[in-house]
Amino acid sequence: MKELLRKIKKIDKLLLSPELEGLRDVYSDLYLMDSIKIAVKVIRKKIIEGIITNENNIDLAIISETLKHIALEQKPNLKKVLNCTGTVLHTNLGRAILSNKGKEALYSLADQYTNLELNLNTGKRGSRYDHITDILKTLTGCEDALVVNNNAAAVLLILTALSKDKEAIVSRGELVEIGGSFRIPSVMDFGGAILKEVGTTNKTHLFDYENAINKETGLLVKVHNSNYTIKGFTKTIPAEELVQLSKKKKVPIYYDLGSGALFDFSPYGIQEPTVKSLITSGVDLLSFSGDKLLGGPQGGIIVGKKKLIEKIKKNQFLRAVRVDKLTLSALEGTLLEYLDMEKVKTNNPTINMLTVSLETLEKKALILLEMFKKVNISFSIKKLNSLSGGGSLPDKEFPSFCLLLEAGEKVSIPKLIDNLRFNNIPILVRVKDNKLIMDLRTIKEEDFVMLVEEFTKAYEGTI
Ligand SMILES: *Cc1c(COP(=O)(O)O)cnc(C)c1O
Repeated sequence: MKELLRKIKKIDKLLLSPELEGLRDVYSDLYLMDSIKIAVKVIRKKIIEGIITNENNIDLAIISETLKHIALEQKPNLKKVLNCTGTVLHTNLGRAILSNKGKEALYSLADQYTNLELNLNTGKRGSRYDHITDILKTLTGCEDALVVNNNAAAVLLILTALSKDKEAIVSRGELVEIGGSFRIPSVMDFGGAILKEVGTTNKTHLFDYENAINKETGLLVKVHNSNYTIKGFTKTIPAEELVQLSKKKKVPIYYDLGSGALFDFSPYGIQEPTVKSLITSGVDLLSFSGDKLLGGPQGGIIVGKKKLIEKIKKNQFLRAVRVDKLTLSALEGTLLEYLDMEKVKTNNPTINMLTVSLETLEKKALILLEMFKKVNISFSIKKLNSLSGGGSLPDKEFPSFCLLLEAGEKVSIPKLIDNLRFNNIPILVRVKDNKLIMDLRTIKEEDFVMLVEEFTKAYEGTI
């Protein structure tokens, strides 16, 4: 073994191996030598463990390990996956995907200087938040707006800016966990607000709020049930009624809307208040996610009364959660599309996928079915429900068309699912009763060819 270890050449010698010549045009010697060092470590270990015993192979083993290391290291981990789950806002898959306008705005500014904090009219310092204020005023009727990194940050910022050391009144039915350990009570605590719980889990009345208001009250807080439903003997106070109370008692009302829709989904059987309707009904302050029903980049959008937003803008914590220029550009692009509410239905992928007709889904299913037939993979078509997901519309099922694959003599569904995930372009599907399900709702037609190709590879790997 010691003999073998001694056979390992010096790094600078290995660098001159003819197999690395091509790479030396692409990468610096320093980088290549670092990579060889890592490879040598791996090979040394293999020699010590007795896995490599043949002295003629050592150079080659090191070089091939070096190539493997470079190939792996240079490949980004974050990559495109094909979402065939039917869940439109899939948190694991990055929630909303951008519209073309959103993408183009982001893409065109990513490598440019911008007027992010410069007022081009005055030549003086401007505010990054100004760029989206006007359009949010138009779309929601708000007096002022602010964007931070995500809605969780928005909630925290609002509580700390408006209710620190003061009581924030929340219904016990709304003290929820959003996911990933983000719990409203803990966030309040963290923000320094004193939680004043009112009502019970299933029922909260207006008098519960009214009785709780005193001179220590800083904020009335309403939390939208974006990711849960309470059924049966229940009562919650609609925002409109809380507005009356808030006006009477002169305590501002803040609504954490979570999923936050700018598009009116009601003609599609989706009961979700629009931000505009809530502003119109007099809610002082609202916050919602950029990447849920809005269908934009991750972000926390705050809209409402100017007086309150100015106070929030002055809070130190804003600096820690301030939105960056890439998000702002993608958000502005996304919002611009909303100026035409008819077009946004087609152009915003999230809205499009949530409102697409069954006929369109069936047509897509038939096309994909035929394409799979040509490569001898026989799916069947079935009408099943898909979900909105990502902390939105928890109760709503969306009838959809799916392709279904049953386990065959040679095809094991669990093995196929693994292979699909290991693919160059991973394919994510649903499984039920050992059947593989691909839901057409979230599959783009432009991805069909790629999907069939990649699926076939994984499928053949199981045979
Ligand atoms: C999703 C959600 C949040 C958190 O928003 P992120 O953008 O994911 O940070 C907060 N509150 C409610 C009600 C939500 O639904």
